[in-house]
Amino acid sequence: MNIKQFVFNPFGVNAYILSNNAGDAILIDPSVSNAREQAALADYIKSEHLNVRRLLNTHLHLDHVLGNAFIERTYNIKAEAHKADEFLLGLQQEQAQMFGLPCNDIAPALGKFLDEGDNVEIPEIKLQVIHVAGHSPGGLAFYCENPGKVNGQDNVPPLLFPGDILFAGSRGRSDLFGGDEFTLVSGIKSKLLTLPSETIVFPGHGPMTTIGDEKIWY
Ligand SMILES: [Zn+2]
Ligand SMILES: [Zn+2]
Repeated sequence: MNIKQFVFNPFGVNAYILSNNAGDAILIDPSVSNAREQAALADYIKSEHLNVRRLLNTHLHLDHVLGNAFIERTYNIKAEAHKADEFLLGLQQEQAQMFGLPCNDIAPALGKFLDEGDNVEIPEIKLQVIHVAGHSPGGLAFYCENPGKVNGQDNVPPLLFPGDILFAGSRGRSDLFGGDEFTLVSGIKSKLLTLPSETIVFPGHGPMTTIGDEKIWY
């Protein structure tokens, strides 16, 4: 598969585009917030001849859903996320005021709910859905156990896309909209830090890390 990363919106959300050799693509949190970012994303999709098959949100905090309306309009595809975060779509204006984020393009309703144990699959790419509440009630991490060749490289270890659940040297805050620190830490320990140490972590903000490097903090 190929992985392309963008950093979008004033909160610096890492958006990931996973695509296979046939050009099918999965978007994770493509949270474009203005015309320039929309054009950057659309230009990449066009130049790589990609067909957008799935739109995944790790969670529904405003900074991660800013692009959902644009993606739905442009590629006729609806977002998928955990049901326990659905209420956050009703609080977009409140979040915009609270965080000083733009919110001109309200994210529409979800097309599908994802939960623990589900798989998101297109040819060559299989993501296992892991649910870790605590940063938000419906926080999801997407785990790719066998990524195969990635960006031309062989022997790539497993990959994890945990949104704001886990960052390099840190984790998401737990004081917002149904967050809970104990739930977050116990979920990270039992569901993420139990993955292979060499797993490469692509977080929702900031640099990449590995599960092994994060274990030392717990
Ligand atoms: Zn968040
Ligand atoms: Zn975030």
